[in-house]
Amino acid sequence: REASQIPQRVLFYKPYMSNGLADRLLLEQELHKALANEEFYLDFQPQVNIKTDKIDSVEALVRWRHPTRGFVSPEQFIPIAEESGLIIPLGKWILETACAQAKIWREQGLPPMKVAVNLSIGQLFQQDLVHMVQEILQCTKLEPKYLQLEITESMTMNIDQITQLLHELKTIGIQIAVDDFGTGYSSLSYLKDFPIDCLKIDRTFVRNIQHNPNDEALVSMILSMAKHLRLKVVAEGIEEVEQLAFLIDGGCDYIQGYLFSKPISAEEISNNFKELHRRARDVLKEFKYEE
Ligand code: C2E
Ligand code: MG
Ligand code: MG
Ligand code: MG
Repeated sequence: REASQIPQRVLFYKPYMSNGLADRLLLEQELHKALANEEFYLDFQPQVNIKTDKIDSVEALVRWRHPTRGFVSPEQFIPIAEESGLIIPLGKWILETACAQAKIWREQGLPPMKVAVNLSIGQLFQQDLVHMVQEILQCTKLEPKYLQLEITESMTMNIDQITQLLHELKTIGIQIAVDDFGTGYSSLSYLKDFPIDCLKIDRTFVRNIQHNPNDEALVSMILSMAKHLRLKVVAEGIEEVEQLAFLIDGGCDYIQGYLFSKPISAEEISNNFKELHRRARDVLKEFKYEE
């Protein structure tokens, strides 16, 4: 092909794209070493229970501290871990670490807290997921009701298989949440078959809730649907106090967002628990006096 025939767009993008690919391959190799090198750790983001003003759950979020690149976002490395299969050992490590941490907090005298752990699709299709979860709960001595697994709508494609699996997981006594609810392309029909406990409203819906009537309509639809289906609702990504009124009025059960706390280390949770709790109570106080 003559150079003149190649669209300029391609010439312009090519160096960038191939760089990206090489970098990705390198990242994949480094990712494989990272588990053995103990470069991963978990942060935890509090979820505030609106009915009680208490922090009674946290979401575990994996972090990668790369020796030279520094902090690599999970948005960047989780997809690579999924495609390379590393998500299986990494996912197991995340689950073990999160459950062990929940137990440590209990032993430190913190009130009981549920820990929510994100699952990747590859983990759902891994043969021994149910067995693995059971074993981790046994080893860490965490009561099953304090573990919540988060799945996403993209995992609901294979309804029959997933329904069976989720029922098996429910038999253990753990909770199931649907993360990023409303952002997938799936139909809602899985909601009637899946044994789900909780929906997490994605932050793209709540971001402009106080300015955009369409977002407001969608959020109130999700809240009322959840109520009828007897599901709990967590609103994600709440940054401003102005976003709260509507969610509280609509009967949202939990708030997770920078307004209350960014994801923080396990030690910060234990050391600052009272302070986090007081902050939550103070913020929510002004919404409660009308009742
Ligand atoms: P996610 O599960 O929906 O997690 C919520 C994300 O929103 C987290 O980003 C959290 O830090 C961020 N977030 C929470 N509150 C706010 C807020 O008020 N404002 C803004 N701007 N962001 C907020 P993070 O930790 O970067 O994780 C991104 C995604 O990576 C997660 O989305 C999840 O899909 C994936 N991920 C993270 N940890 C894990 C893990 O342990 N396993 C798996 N399979 N995926 C994970
Ligand atoms: Mg999540
Ligand atoms: Mg989410
Ligand atoms: Mg997400």
